[in-house]
Amino acid sequence: MVTTSLPRAASRGGSFLLESCTPEDVFSPADLADDQKLIGRTAEEFVRNEVVPLIADLEQHKPGLLAQLLRKAGEIGLLGGGVPEEYGGAGLDKVSSVQLAENLSAYASFGVSHGGHAGIGTLPIVFFGNEEQKKKYLRLLATGEKLAAYCLSEPQAGSDAQNSRTRAVLSPDGRSWILNGQKMWITNGGFADVYIVFAKVDGEKFSCFIVERGFPGFSSGAEERKMGLKGSSTTAIFFENCRVPKENLLYEAGRGHIVAFNILNAGRFSLGAYCMGGAKRTLETASKYAKERTAFGKPIGDFGLIRAKLAEMAIRIFAVESMIYRSAGLMDRAIAASGDSDKSQQSMKVFEEYSIESSISKVYGSELLDFVVDEAVQIFGGYGFHEDYPVARGYRDSRVNRIFEGTNEINRMLIIQMLIKRATSGALPLLEAGAKLREEVLAGPSFEEQPSGAWAEEERILAGVKKAFLLAAGAALEKYRDRLADQQEIVAALSDIVMECYAIESSLRRVQKAEASRGQEASVVMADAARVFLHDAADRVEAGARRALAAVLEGDMLRTQLAVLRRFLKREPADTIAMRQRVSAAVQAGDRYPFEGR
Ligand SMILES: Cc1cc2nc3c(=O)[nH]c(=O)nc-3n(C[C@H](O)[C@H](O)[C@H](O)COP(=O)(O)OP(=O)(O)OC[C@H]3O[C@@H](n4cnc5c(N)ncnc54)[C@H](O)[C@@H]3O)c2cc1C
Repeated sequence: MVTTSLPRAASRGGSFLLESCTPEDVFSPADLADDQKLIGRTAEEFVRNEVVPLIADLEQHKPGLLAQLLRKAGEIGLLGGGVPEEYGGAGLDKVSSVQLAENLSAYASFGVSHGGHAGIGTLPIVFFGNEEQKKKYLRLLATGEKLAAYCLSEPQAGSDAQNSRTRAVLSPDGRSWILNGQKMWITNGGFADVYIVFAKVDGEKFSCFIVERGFPGFSSGAEERKMGLKGSSTTAIFFENCRVPKENLLYEAGRGHIVAFNILNAGRFSLGAYCMGGAKRTLETASKYAKERTAFGKPIGDFGLIRAKLAEMAIRIFAVESMIYRSAGLMDRAIAASGDSDKSQQSMKVFEEYSIESSISKVYGSELLDFVVDEAVQIFGGYGFHEDYPVARGYRDSRVNRIFEGTNEINRMLIIQMLIKRATSGALPLLEAGAKLREEVLAGPSFEEQPSGAWAEEERILAGVKKAFLLAAGAALEKYRDRLADQQEIVAALSDIVMECYAIESSLRRVQKAEASRGQEASVVMADAARVFLHDAADRVEAGARRALAAVLEGDMLRTQLAVLRRFLKREPADTIAMRQRVSAAVQAGDRYPFEGR
C-alpha cells in the first residue's frame, strides 16, 4: 500500500541528530500564512463562543450535547481537516492542522473528542480505505453527519495492543465477519456512529474493521467515571456475535498493526499540538490571576517565585511550539516535494518518516502541559484546589495525555527503537557518526574553527548535546547491542537526550530566524527564552548522559568518557534568573504567551 518514497529534498526523520540545519530550513509560527491563521482563529472562536459557555452541561454529560457540538463544528469545516477535498474534506496541510488542534484545546474534553473523531477515528479510512469505503464514509465524517471512534484498547490489552482478545470469523455464508469481544476506554464511545475496530481474524490475524452502531450485536457501555476529561465520552464497546459486512474489512486481514501504528503516529503528533494550545490558555489564566490576587500588599505576580513560574511556562511552551511547527513544516515540505498525486498516501508516509518527531511531540507536549497546569494550580494557591476555578479542571484533564496514544514510557522506548532501526537499515548514518565521533575523541581537542557571533555559546551547546547523545548511545550499544531494549532506564535516558537535542535546535533556529527577519532588538525577549531553555536543557542532557554512561561503563573507561562528556558540554554559566524575569515581564504585560505568531 505504501509505495511512494520521500523526496531527497526533505531531510529524513531523526536526521536532526546528525545534521545541522539553518534558520531558513526551519518552519516557525512567523511563517504562518493568512489562511493558516484563519483556520486557527475559526477554531478558537468556535470553542470560545459555542463550547465554553456549555462546559457545565458538558461536564454533566447532558445527553446529546457533545455530539451536537461536534456536528456543529463539522458544519463549519472543523472536522474535515484530514479528509482530502475530493471526499468532502478540507485536505489541510500539517501546519494548518496544528493551528486547528492547538486552537480547539481551550476545553480539553472537546479537543480530545475532536481528535477521537477527526484524527484517529477518520484517518484509518483516509489512509487505508478502498474507494468504496472512502466514498461511503469520508464525506459523512468530514461534515460531522456521522461521528467516529477508534477502538484499539481492551481491558487486558492497552500498551500491548496486539494481544487483543477480540475475535473475527467469517460467517458460514461468507458474507459477514462475526465479531466477539470487548474494547475499553473508547473516546466518543457513547455516541459515535462509525467505529474503527481491531480484532484478530480466526484468533490470529490482527485486522481492522469498520463497524457501525446499529450493526446487530454491537453495544456501548456506560460512561466511565474518570479523573478528568469529564465532558468527553469514554465507554467500553461490546461485540456479541456482531455481524459486520464482509466489505467492511479495512485494508488487509493480518495487517491491522500497520493501520494501528500509522494512525498512532498521526495521533501522537496532534496530541502535542492540543497540549501546546492548552498550555497557552492556562498561562493566560495564571498570569491574569497573578495580577488580581494580592498578598503582603502587592500582586502575587510581583514576587520573584511567581514570576519565575510564569516565565518557565512561556519558555517551555516556546520550545514545544518551535519543535511542533518545525516538524509540521518538514512534513508539508516532504508532501509538496513528492509530486505524488495521492496526497493521502503521501501524508501517511510522512507521518511514518517523522514518527520520531511525532513521539517527541507527544511526550514533550504532554509533559509540558502537566508542568504548566501544575504550576497554575500553585499560582492559584488554595483556589487552585477548588472546582469553581478553571485550573483544577485543567489539572485533572491534563493527566491522561501521558497515558493515551501510547504511554510516555512506550513512546520513550519507541524513539530509540526507531532510531536504531533506521541506523541498522542504513536510512540514518548513526553508526557512521558514532565512529567519526570516536575518532574525534581519540584525536583530542581540535583547533578547528569555532562558532562565532551572538549565538556562539549556544551553537557550541547544540553541537555538544548531539555529541553527548552519540557518546552515551555508542557506549550503551557497544555493551548491550541488540539487547539494549531490555535496559529501559538507559533507553529512557537516551530518549530524553534525543528530545532535548530536537528542542534545543528548534528553539535556537527559531530565534535566529526571528532576529534575521525582525532584528535583534525586537527579538530580545525571545532570545532570553531560547537561552534559558538551552542552558537548562544542556544541564538535563549532561545529567542524563552521565547517568547512562555510569550504568554502562566503569573504572578508568568511565572516568575518561565522563571527561569527554564534560569537554563536549563545557559552557559558560548564563544568568537565567535575570532572563526569566524579562520573559515574565513580557508574559505579564499582555497576560499571554508572548511569542504567538513570531
Ligand atoms: C480517557 C481515556 C481515553 C482513551 N481513549 C482511547 C480510544 O479512543 N481508543 C483506544 O483504543 N484507547 C483509548 N484509551 C486507552 C489508552 O490508549 C490506554 O489506556 C493506554 O494505551 C495504556 O494502556 P493500559 O491502560 O492498558 O495501561 P498498561 O498498558 O497496562 O500500562 C500500565 C503501565 O505500565 C507501563 N508499561 C506497559 N508496558 C510497558 C513496557 N513494555 N515497558 C515499560 N512500561 C510499560 C505503561 O507505560 C503504564 O505506565 C483511552 C484511555 C483513557 C484513560
